[in-house]
Amino acid sequence: MSGPPAATGDGHDHAHDHAHTHRHAHPYDPTAPGPPGAGRTIADGVVELDTLLGGWERVTAGYLIEGPEPVLVETGSQSSVPVLLAQLDALGLGPTDLAGVVVTHIHLDHAGGVGDVARAFPNATVYVHPKGARHLADPTKLVDSAARVYGDLLDSLYGRLDPTPAERLHVLEDGEAIRVGPGRELVAVDSPGHAKHHVALHDSLSGLLFAGDAVGVKLPDGGVLRPSTPPPDFDLDQALGSLARFAARRPAGIALAHYGLLGDPAEVLDEADGTLRRWAEVAEAAFRQGEDIAAALAAAFESDLDDVADEHRRKLEVMNGVHSNAAGLQRWLSLRAPADPPPG
Ligand SMILES: [Zn+2]
Repeated sequence: MSGPPAATGDGHDHAHDHAHTHRHAHPYDPTAPGPPGAGRTIADGVVELDTLLGGWERVTAGYLIEGPEPVLVETGSQSSVPVLLAQLDALGLGPTDLAGVVVTHIHLDHAGGVGDVARAFPNATVYVHPKGARHLADPTKLVDSAARVYGDLLDSLYGRLDPTPAERLHVLEDGEAIRVGPGRELVAVDSPGHAKHHVALHDSLSGLLFAGDAVGVKLPDGGVLRPSTPPPDFDLDQALGSLARFAARRPAGIALAHYGLLGDPAEVLDEADGTLRRWAEVAEAAFRQGEDIAAALAAAFESDLDDVADEHRRKLEVMNGVHSNAAGLQRWLSLRAPADPPPG
C-alpha cells in the first residue's frame, strides 16, 4: 500500500507565498526531530504539535496545516494551551495569522483549548461538527458532563472549556472544504461512532487524513491500535461505517490525535475494523451472560500491552482505559434495539 505521503517534489521554497509560516528545507523526513518547541514536519506543510497533555509526550497531537490561510487541527485540552501557543509562536504564527481552527470532536482532550485559542487568534474561524457547535458557544452542559466522566481529572489534568463567540463558529457539513491555500483544502468527513459530533479532515495536498479518535488510539511508546469506545455516544455500526468512509477516500496516511502519523492506511483501517469488531464481540458476550464487561475486555486484551512500560500504560489508561471503553460498549449494548442483528 502507499507509504508516507509523497512530497510535492518541486523543491519549492514557500518563503514568498506565505511569509509568516515556517519554511521547510526538506519536504518530508519522518525521522527528523523538529526544532525544539516548534513541532515536527510529518508531510509537506503539515506540522505535528505535541500538546503534552499532563506533561506527557506523544499522547495528544495537534496538527498545523500550512499555507496562506493556515489551519490548526485540534487544540488539545485547556491545560495544553500555553504549550500550544508557544509552539505556534515558534513557527512564526502571529496573532492575526491563523485562519482556522478545527476540532475533530468536542471532547475536552481535543477541544478544551478552543475558546482560549480563538481569543489568541482573533481572525481564526472555528470549525466544528453540526452536533458540536452549540456546546462550543455555551459549554456549560459539556463541562458538567465532563465533570461526571473525568471527576478530579477535570481540573488536575484537562482543564475546562471557555466559550467561543457564536459569530466565530462555522458549522462544518460533510464534504465541505476548508481552504488553506491554492491547491490545498481540508475536506470534512462526517465520522460518527466514537462520538456523534466527530468529523475527520482529509488534506487534499498531502493526502493525510486527520482522524481524531475515529480510528482508535496507538501511542508511539507502545501497544497495538486499540479502539476508543467511550460513553455516551459510542455506536459500533456508525464507527465501522466511518472506517469504511475513510478507506474509500484512499488517504496517503492517517494522523491520529493519540498519537501521530501511521503509514499503510489501508492496513491500519483494516486493523481498526477488526479490533473494533473483536472488542464489541467480547463486550456483547459478557453483556448477554450478565458478566462484567470491563473484566471481560481486560481478560481478552490486556496481553496486548505486555510489552508496554508501566509509565506508558498509565497514559493509555487515562486516554483510553478499559473502563471507559467498557462503559461506552455497555451503553451501546443497552440502548440497541433487541431485534438488531449482531454486528458483522
Ligand atoms: Zn481523544
